[in-house]
Formats: sequence, C-alpha cells, structure tokens
Amino acid sequence: VMSVRDLRVAFGATEAVHGLSFDIHRGETLALVGESGSGKSATALSILRLIEREGGQITGGTIRLGGTRPANITSLRASELRALRGDRVAMVFQEPMTSLNPVMTIGAQICETLSLHRGLHGAAAREAARAALERVKVPEPAQRLNQYPHELSGGLRQRVMIAMALTCEPEVLIADEPTTALDVTTQAEILRLIASLQREMGMAVLFITHDLGVVSEIADRVVVLKDGLKVEEGFTADLFASPRADYTKELMAASP
Ligand code: ATP
Ligand code: MG
Repeated sequence: VMSVRDLRVAFGATEAVHGLSFDIHRGETLALVGESGSGKSATALSILRLIEREGGQITGGTIRLGGTRPANITSLRASELRALRGDRVAMVFQEPMTSLNPVMTIGAQICETLSLHRGLHGAAAREAARAALERVKVPEPAQRLNQYPHELSGGLRQRVMIAMALTCEPEVLIADEPTTALDVTTQAEILRLIASLQREMGMAVLFITHDLGVVSEIADRVVVLKDGLKVEEGFTADLFASPRADYTKELMAASP
C-alpha cells in the first residue's frame, strides 16, 4: 500500500535519514525499530509531509501510496496535503496531550475532525464522534464527549487520539511510540486495541518503537534502523529466531 524508496531527510546541513527503503503492505503491521536518534520520527513525519514544520526537509527519494488512488507523496503540493493527512495516512504520537487542544472538549475536537474530513456536522457529527469513541472502547463514550483532555487518563487520551486518527479510515496508520508515555498495563491495552482495530479495519500500521518486546507482540515484519540506515529487515519470527545484523543482536541482548 506504500513504498518508501531511497528516502533522505535532512535538518539543515545534517542528514538524519540516508537513503531508506521499505514497503508497507496492505493489512500488515510493520515495526520500525531503532535507538533514539536513529531517524524513526523523521521518517514518519516525512511520510505525512510534516517534516518541513519541524525544520527538516526531504532531500531525496520517493514515498508512494499505491492502491486504487496512487499518489506520490514526495511531490504533492501543499494544497493536496490536507486530503492526504488524516484521509489516507494518519498518525498518533507518543504524548497525546501535545496533539489535543486543552481548552476544547473531546467531543468538539472529534467533531472538528469529522467536519473537516467527512463533512459531518451537528447531531450527525456528534453521533459519529460517540461511535468513534465506542470503537476504541472508551467507556461511557457519550459522557466523555463533554470532558476536557486533562480529565482523562493517559490511556484514555491515547484512545481518543486513535479514534481521531481513524475517523477517515486511513490506508496507513503511523503510530510513533504511542505507548511509551504509559504504564505497562495501559501499554498492553493500547497494543491490543491497535491490533484489534487493525484486524477489524484492515489498514496497514507503521509501528515505531525502540522496544523489541513491543515489536514481538504487535509486528508482522520489522525494519531495524541505525543512524538513519536500514540494517536489517524481516518477518518478526525470523528476526527474533535468527537476527543477521550484529546491531540487531546487540539490540536483542540489551532488551529485557
Ligand atoms: P527517538 O527514539 O528519540 O524518538 P528517533 O529515531 O525518532 O528518536 P529522530 O527524531 O528521527 O529520531 O531524529 C533523527 C536525527 O535527526 C537525530 O540525530 C536528531 O538529533 C535529528 N533531529 C530530529 N529533529 C530535529 C530538529 N527539529 N532539528 C534538528 N535536528 C533534528
Ligand atoms: Mg522519535
């Protein structure tokens, strides 16, 4: 459903991603793994073309969406990007509070997304927002619509972010360390939720993490990134059974 070829990303004169290639297939969960600074977020932000906002730039390569409406993300004009983000590729971040508006109710924020991307307004939007919260298993979804982000636990906020990311049934969901800020039990719940939504909706998931334990739980395939370069790629079971790159072996030895 998506192919990344020879992607290069730079922040000013410093290159952070040095020619990265990988594919994400329909309905699969691909884990992008690497230590801090390896270029995981730079890659994710490039796919959404949000990298420019972070002061970075795509300096080479291509990112293509396949399927019935092929698109070359790398060459989309600014006016075409709104239809891409959210509609076809959506993202959830590590700390949901940074993407939620603290002075707006959960319901108003989901309704805004629904209005922007699906043209729903008023009671129809409100019902769709309630259904979106129900889908991500937020308890008492109708009451939650009237609450503000700070009134929710971290786990519930992340569920709200996932609900918002999925309102347009994107072809690709990018999750950039979505469970890192959560306690272990909540982490496991969010992983199970993403896995079950993935099965239910059939979107591809690009799951970014530095945690190999999470990879073994959620991913079909794995791309291992080191200093902006791919060092290894394979099916999760194969990679854990017989890692080829020394770096992968190091990561595995370092993980509990
Ligand atoms: P983490 O696990 O810590 O999130 P990451 O793999 O997501 O790490 P990136 O955020 O993609 O890593 O960073 C890749 C490289 O780009 C790093 O060397 C980082 O210092 C640099 N970098 C990231 N964001 C910026 C920025 N806004 N300005 C300048 N350099 C940046
Ligand atoms: Mg990151």
